[in-house]
Amino acid sequence: MENFRFHFDNEPDLEKERQKISEQFTVAKKQKQEKIEGEYEKTNEEIKLIQVVNDLVRKEISEIGIITEEYASEDRIHLINQEKAKSLKMDSDGRYHLTGHFILINEDNLEGKKFKAFKVLLHEIIHYYSLHSLAFLKEENNLVIKEYRTGYVSHNPKEDEHEHFRGFNEAVTEKIMEEIIKKNKQYIIDEFNLEKTNFAHRENFDLGYKDEIKILDFIIQKLAEKQNKSPEEIWTKIKRGMFTGEMMHLRDIEKIFGPGSLRFLSAMSSYGSTNEINTEKIYQKIYLFFTEENQIKKNALAKEILSEREFLRYNSSL
Ligand SMILES: [Zn+2]
Repeated sequence: MENFRFHFDNEPDLEKERQKISEQFTVAKKQKQEKIEGEYEKTNEEIKLIQVVNDLVRKEISEIGIITEEYASEDRIHLINQEKAKSLKMDSDGRYHLTGHFILINEDNLEGKKFKAFKVLLHEIIHYYSLHSLAFLKEENNLVIKEYRTGYVSHNPKEDEHEHFRGFNEAVTEKIMEEIIKKNKQYIIDEFNLEKTNFAHRENFDLGYKDEIKILDFIIQKLAEKQNKSPEEIWTKIKRGMFTGEMMHLRDIEKIFGPGSLRFLSAMSSYGSTNEINTEKIYQKIYLFFTEENQIKKNALAKEILSEREFLRYNSSL
């Protein structure tokens, strides 16, 4: 299956309109295969790296029963310089763009850091293979393409583009990456001559989004305990949802952690959903929310952390 879905303001009544939208997206994708300003030529080693990472991701998702037609070909991955990254306000080493289905990598930041470059590429390619949904909004008489959903993270194009489930989505992405690395460690070492690097001798791969992962791990453990299942079973469902778009299993979080807890979780590291974002204090409080059993104390934490709009919605789910 092609991993794209389209979402509309109003369901288009005509097949013709659907056709037009699909063509418009094809054009947008095609444009992003061309070289951009500030882009480096790829070395043979980098081209091979892209192939290997694609193979690893495809292998991983086929193990959970997902057949994909995706392939992050080298012309959809742009290795750019610092100046270009700055002009695009890139705050991380890699970024996946849904509206043109391409990846940007800040090459200058990763110069000489082989394993880090591998991880950044792997992380972004997992986003690339995730379920995608685009919103088409009518602005005047034109159809404008907006991000709607990548994996679990969704954007609300009509309410200040605020997000849901960004932290959750990133934690799931990093955990999938960790699994891929663990399962294929020797292969990666051989393929990229990493025998003499630290990577070959370590068990921990210095993951990103550690705070989000800690919260996700706690949730998985607790769900497993309360539902008499293995953590692997819970985790596999979460993993699959990333690529199929299935989210029903997340309702279990609401059952186990109480009303409002899913909305609360969706606000983690999501722009526009919390008052403050990505601070240590916030992560501690989010963790506390999930370990706390008293609903009144939970509500107080929600009131403190969530943006006004999200708290109103949290409150109405109680
Ligand atoms: Zn990411």
